[in-house]
Amino acid sequence: MSQPLRVPALSLVVLVGVAGSGKSTFAARHFRPTQVVSSDGCRALVADDPRDQSATGAAFEVAHLVTRHRLANGLLTVLDATSVEPAARRPLLELAREHDVPAVAIVLDLPEELCARRAAERPDRAVAAAVVHRQHMELRAGLHGLRAEGFAAVHVLRTEAEAAGTAVDLVGSPLDRRAEQGPFDIVGDVHGCLDELEELLGRLGYEIARDGAGRAVGAHHPTGRRAVFVGDLVDRGPDPAGVLRLAMGMVAAGDALAVAGNHEHKLVRALGRAGAGVGAGGQAKVGGNLARTLELLGAEPAEFQAAAFDFCAGLAGHLVLDGGALVVAHAGLKEAYHGRDSDRALAFALFGDTTGERDEYGLPVRLPWAEQYRGRATVVYGHTPMFEHRWVNNTLCVDTGCCFGGSLTALRYPERELVSVQARREHYPPVRPLRHEPGVAAS
Ligand code: GDP
Ligand code: MG
Repeated sequence: MSQPLRVPALSLVVLVGVAGSGKSTFAARHFRPTQVVSSDGCRALVADDPRDQSATGAAFEVAHLVTRHRLANGLLTVLDATSVEPAARRPLLELAREHDVPAVAIVLDLPEELCARRAAERPDRAVAAAVVHRQHMELRAGLHGLRAEGFAAVHVLRTEAEAAGTAVDLVGSPLDRRAEQGPFDIVGDVHGCLDELEELLGRLGYEIARDGAGRAVGAHHPTGRRAVFVGDLVDRGPDPAGVLRLAMGMVAAGDALAVAGNHEHKLVRALGRAGAGVGAGGQAKVGGNLARTLELLGAEPAEFQAAAFDFCAGLAGHLVLDGGALVVAHAGLKEAYHGRDSDRALAFALFGDTTGERDEYGLPVRLPWAEQYRGRATVVYGHTPMFEHRWVNNTLCVDTGCCFGGSLTALRYPERELVSVQARREHYPPVRPLRHEPGVAAS
């Protein structure tokens, strides 16, 4: 028995194989009928006859249209057509990119004679051996270029036994936490303000656990509520390492969830071990603010530094919670990116919808995505410090600029109550006066 194929639960699966290679059989065995879009099925839809080759153009138009709508709806889609030519795969890769889902190729590269025999014997629609031969040549010519074409993964099944005996495991995205029901306390940008965080958690009813040295290492709510940190735990405030210690303890114990902020992203890059996920993208410029976080982390034991790195590098770009009704992302997230794992979805979640320009304070100018938001999910985010909380189209910013002398705020969800504690002092001079209206500037 071969290893199961691991396929992202939200992806576009493109089956690649000549007539008679067993694509439709494989699709029927591993996927639900509604997940499979087949060229033969679409020919039948438009021409009443799956064999009518004159209907091919219309059939692919329908296949691509159905695929587009399914991907927009966040549904796994399996394309069952030969797809042996790059030109047939190109529009599918384009659809996957457009909808921020990975494209996965499953190639049924079985012996040509076997496929030709099966194709000829197929009772409903026999395919000539010469056609199978041409398809086989095309498949072989393109096989090694599939990754370069843009497939995130390429799985090749080479024998009848492999095709029949290989299972498919659908792997859920770490962003997809829809099964987590809450209730949650969604905490805004902490930025190293440990005293205020402890006070806020206390006000919310959490019991703080301490180590022998009296440091906060966890916090548990007696009724099972969980905190969700919107990112930017570090930088600016007095104790980024202490905030990390508490947040990491809570996440490890299942008392909290967390998403990455742009400051964790930068920290991970500065620590220099560019890898997958949030940390990808090379070395960052180290400004004074980050240099101080690095210095404070550097004073911690090596195990803590390593754990902090792993924690920050492993943070999700955003989380989809409560059956899809709640999305938490550091800088907010438009609906098209909910549950999507692409680079541009991550960039939006970390930095917002920036125009590429800078304002008079040298900060990135952001597009007011929340004004245009019409999505079903409630989006709770931080990143943009504000004095006032105001719901905008089912979105709420909970960053109230604690490090700048504002307050630290949590949203109780689903109650939609706000709980805030005042900053002890102005820990860090604001680069620009705090806004009263949501949505325009980044920090
Ligand atoms: P497609 O043209 O690639 O979609 O191939 P099909 O799935 O229609 O399979 C072609 C023929 O091969 C059909 O008659 C199938 O019943 C048969 N077939 C597919 N997979 C297997 C297999 O694993 N073992 C055997 N014996 N026959 C298979
Ligand atoms: Mg078929």
